[in-house]
Amino acid sequence: MPYAIDETHDPKLESWVESANDPNTDFPIQNLPLCLAGCPTKQLSMMTTRVGDFLVDFDVLSAAELIEDTSCETGGVCWNYVRAMNPVWRTAKIRKRLSELLHKDNPELRDNKKLREEALTPIAECKMYQPIRFGDYTDFYASLNHATNVGSMFRPDNPLLPNYKWIPVGYHGRASSIVPSGTVITRPVGQQAPAEGAVGSENRPTFGPCKLLDYEMEMGAIIGRGNDLGKPVTMAEAEDHILGLCILNDWSARDLQKWEYVPLGPFLAKNFASTVSPYIVTMEALAPFRCPAMERPTSDPQPLPHLDAPANREAGGIDITVEVHLASKQMRDTGLEPIRLSKGNFRDMYWTVAQMIAHHTSNGCNLQPGDLLGSGTISGTTRDSRGSLLELTWDGDPFANPPVLVPGTQRTPIELPTGETRKFIADGDEIIMRAYCEREGFRRIGFGECRGIIQPAVS
Ligand code: CA
Repeated sequence: MPYAIDETHDPKLESWVESANDPNTDFPIQNLPLCLAGCPTKQLSMMTTRVGDFLVDFDVLSAAELIEDTSCETGGVCWNYVRAMNPVWRTAKIRKRLSELLHKDNPELRDNKKLREEALTPIAECKMYQPIRFGDYTDFYASLNHATNVGSMFRPDNPLLPNYKWIPVGYHGRASSIVPSGTVITRPVGQQAPAEGAVGSENRPTFGPCKLLDYEMEMGAIIGRGNDLGKPVTMAEAEDHILGLCILNDWSARDLQKWEYVPLGPFLAKNFASTVSPYIVTMEALAPFRCPAMERPTSDPQPLPHLDAPANREAGGIDITVEVHLASKQMRDTGLEPIRLSKGNFRDMYWTVAQMIAHHTSNGCNLQPGDLLGSGTISGTTRDSRGSLLELTWDGDPFANPPVLVPGTQRTPIELPTGETRKFIADGDEIIMRAYCEREGFRRIGFGECRGIIQPAVS
């Protein structure tokens, strides 16, 4: 694996930015994510990193020659964030330099009041944008547990299709509707299947607001280095192409999906909005949290050689805890805290990010800097680790002993502290996703939040 643990991960490192030393912050000096922000005191959007409760402007630091120039090194493709990408960051130079500059004993920026005030802006004064303008978006389906849950609802006897354990299944999504955390999402409108058993003139689809609106808790991998058309990326090279990860909410209209998905897969059920968290946590920052790829049961086939590598088996996984919370409008209005709906882990994915990249490019397809690869819903084998309401409120449990396989429509609603209940998302609900990494002997780092409130459909 190309990402090693080094001095920037030392858990003893502290910053002169006091809020970075709070044990509960997602953004200690060991994280240093990439982000893009707008701020009233600056004319332009800023390429930044976040440390504690401050954003650090790269342009100010490079103009003062405190960090290397982060300007375009990608052959003129300089749109928004790409200039901060590979290869500058990948060599980990800027990470190391930022780690030095922000270290509590380093006076260079700490003791230069004017420059410090220019370079650091409190997060509360800034608006976070999506961290990059995404070029293309592909969404995978890499959690075996998610695929088994969903498959069991519709095909109790045969939940997994024959290709699942051979191919990281995915589809091409839409980049134009990816929005940053905090963007209000309008309930989509679309066609829904005729009622079951409907006959005659009743046997026709209806058109109206989605009735089964859902989220999907995913991680997104951002491509930092592309590949030439016709040149597949090998498993050995795959991780070298990733800039980092963010949280991704793949909002899903289940009733639209059910009617439209045959035979070409999701379309309007998915492309009305996808929300990302504002921070790209780099692969360098994630180095201490690597873990083996999910071990395949001995009864499962091993991947074909182009999707297999010893390094991937040993450390292709990433230990990231993921949580989904919900706050209804009534809860917010009465000052109630959001409730946690689920808690899962990214290490439980059947396919690793490296395998997704190797598969995606195996036919010669070219990935480009700024492409987003969604992991697919992250679900575990327990009910409280299911990463969508489709699974969470479903009464079946294919992982129980013996398995409980019931048709997809039998659901127990979730009760909210206000007495409200939910099988799917209601108007006014806010979905809040969080992700973080913890490991004994290392500093906890986090991905921040990925939020979205649902507003009523356009009539
Ligand atoms: Ca998805």
